[in-house]
Amino acid sequence: MAVPPTPNDRRLVLVVEDEPAIADLVVLHLERAGFATLVERDGDAALAAVARHTPAVVVLDIGLPGRDGIEVCRALRSAGDWTPVLFLTARDDHVDRVVGLELGADDYIVKPFSPREVVARVQAVLRRTAASPRPPDEVLRLGQLECDLAGRRVIVAGADVAFTATEFDLLAHLLATPGRVFTRAQLLRAVWGEDALLTLAGDRTVDVHIAQVRAKLAPHDAIRTVRGVGYAAFTARELGALGADQVNP
Ligand code: CA
Repeated sequence: MAVPPTPNDRRLVLVVEDEPAIADLVVLHLERAGFATLVERDGDAALAAVARHTPAVVVLDIGLPGRDGIEVCRALRSAGDWTPVLFLTARDDHVDRVVGLELGADDYIVKPFSPREVVARVQAVLRRTAASPRPPDEVLRLGQLECDLAGRRVIVAGADVAFTATEFDLLAHLLATPGRVFTRAQLLRAVWGEDALLTLAGDRTVDVHIAQVRAKLAPHDAIRTVRGVGYAAFTARELGALGADQVNP
């Protein structure tokens, strides 16, 4: 689990939520867990706060007055800002839309949620974006893909492709052991952390993020679905046997 920040190095979480009762509850629990917090109540103020304060994570409600959470996330990403975003969604928001490819959200929580869950997810996002335990110069290579673990870059056929922290960790986990099949539960545990196993949308979360990763890798996707089990990266030999590096229709 994430180490609580020291008082001198408290990581800042920007909470963007227009309902004061919800914002207060989230802030209370984040601060108890040792985070510094900042609350904004609309999208424009949120964008200004990200630029001014460079928070470690943004907890972003989708239903905001004016510019909504989805537009805020899109504005950040299109400006090249990859600050991790954890969406708060209403039950009737579609997950695909929420973590849609062009948005680059790192995770989402469906309302009503427990404030502890928010804290756990924030800690998990920070853990995922923390320094990799692998040797800093390691680069995973498969077919046309390069995954630079130290620089957290994905290079597809020589070109950099922007990945969210979550997408990067998912791809790196699969590429680290090509051919090994991971269940969705194993991927959840490895990438999102133990807490993710408790959430109902867990399997769906994995599927949606895998779909995003694949779309970004296309036409050099090297992930295969193992029906009824989970996902694996192709081995270099399998890629070669297929005679092409585009292996998924
Ligand atoms: Ca709202």
